[in-house]
Amino acid sequence: MIAATTFAGKRVALFGLGGSGLATAFALRAGGTAVAVWDDNLSAREKAAAEGFAPVDLAEADWSQFSSFVLSPGVPLTHPEPHWTVKKAQAAGVEIIGDIEIFCRERREHAPEALFVAITGTNGKSTTTALTAHLFRAFGKDVQMGGNIGTPILSLAPLSNERVYVIELSTFQIDLTPSLDPSVGVLLNLTPDHIDRHGTMENYAAIKERLVASADRAVISVDDHHVREIAERRFGAGRPTIPISVAHPAMADGLVARGTAIEIRSAHVSTPLVDLAGIASLRGAHNAQNALAAVAALGPLADDRASLQAALRSFPGLAHRMENVGKLGRVLFVNDSKATNADAAEKALLSFNDIFWIIGGKSKEGGVEPLRPLFDRIAKAYLIGAATDDFAHTLDGVVVYEKCGTLDVATRAAARDAARSDAQEPVVLLSPACASYDQFPNFEKRGDAFRAVVSDIVNAGG
Ligand code: ADP
Repeated sequence: MIAATTFAGKRVALFGLGGSGLATAFALRAGGTAVAVWDDNLSAREKAAAEGFAPVDLAEADWSQFSSFVLSPGVPLTHPEPHWTVKKAQAAGVEIIGDIEIFCRERREHAPEALFVAITGTNGKSTTTALTAHLFRAFGKDVQMGGNIGTPILSLAPLSNERVYVIELSTFQIDLTPSLDPSVGVLLNLTPDHIDRHGTMENYAAIKERLVASADRAVISVDDHHVREIAERRFGAGRPTIPISVAHPAMADGLVARGTAIEIRSAHVSTPLVDLAGIASLRGAHNAQNALAAVAALGPLADDRASLQAALRSFPGLAHRMENVGKLGRVLFVNDSKATNADAAEKALLSFNDIFWIIGGKSKEGGVEPLRPLFDRIAKAYLIGAATDDFAHTLDGVVVYEKCGTLDVATRAAARDAARSDAQEPVVLLSPACASYDQFPNFEKRGDAFRAVVSDIVNAGG
């Protein structure tokens, strides 16, 4: 745990006891802070009480006694409307921060040399964070990974100048970190997402920009116009910035991907660095972008090309994101259960040919219509869940499909057909382009169910 010593002797209010909230309360208490915790949810309050925190009803509290207010990132700070606790804090002139801000203050105080790599973007955050941590580890570094992925930041091992902290940050977390100052700031991409929670695209982009604006060194993709403008502002200010690009392999300077080849560009000249060919966990142009970001974040360590190539090769990938979960003969089974919308499923469809595609669940607006240009990659589709009739309508006359009802039936049917295919590598792909909650509690459980059926099929030999 990282004790929050910079708040010692003060009184701090904290709202939101799920996820990182309770971890923050522990860190504050360990640092000698009196924490007034609250949550709208009774069972969350009871859990905190069982850990020895006395819940304080912040609706009734005297806010003038608090030096700071720690808000959980899931609670609205600005949109669609500030939470009532935010209004109280603002009225009392109390600063509003999150757990990442506490980490930044502790780092400045106790371990200013600790490498702090902060990663954000609309898509690919978790993959890039996991890959960056993996690469630093492969180079023998003592790596702590967390934030918006896995472990809450203040539950990581105590700060030391020798440790590397690789931290995924959501927009909400950045918004609650006024003095964010990473050693390396990574910005992957910016496309409209949850704009209802950020007001406008401009506001969303401005919050994301803060992560790289304050970084000693920035790694910024230049492949969409929002991130490109941010990169240009960094260049304009003469700040160290590595541009990365998958779309413009001929750009003058930076790190680029030409297909699977990663190259350093300097004054329009390319030097090959590593190659992603044959690395299953980094298939597809989207993963090339993630790999560029992670390699650029490594800094001078990446000069050891052989070790870097080996480290990339050993990246296991993240579960439920184009995860290889089995092979039977020529047939590959891929779990992309995290693809809960057409945009995410598109990345998987672009990464394979001869696809036996399991889709369906609770569909989003527009369904799979945006994927029509990729339908020629689909050998056959297997429909499950609530979206069945809707998707059948879109596929009618263009893609052969079968209405399967459940994931189990769909997987077995797809495995049977794929085994009969004469393609070089037929792929049974669960990339459902739908939320899971009509049939599963969440996408993880859906992916686990797929993995279990695949393992059954593979063990039975078909
Ligand atoms: P996040 O943490 O930002 O949600 P993940 O790494 O968990 O991102 O990937 C989620 C999904 O987003 C993947 O299954 C893939 O469809 C898509 N994706 C991953 N990386 C990228 C990228 N660099 N650009 C666009 N889409 C991506």
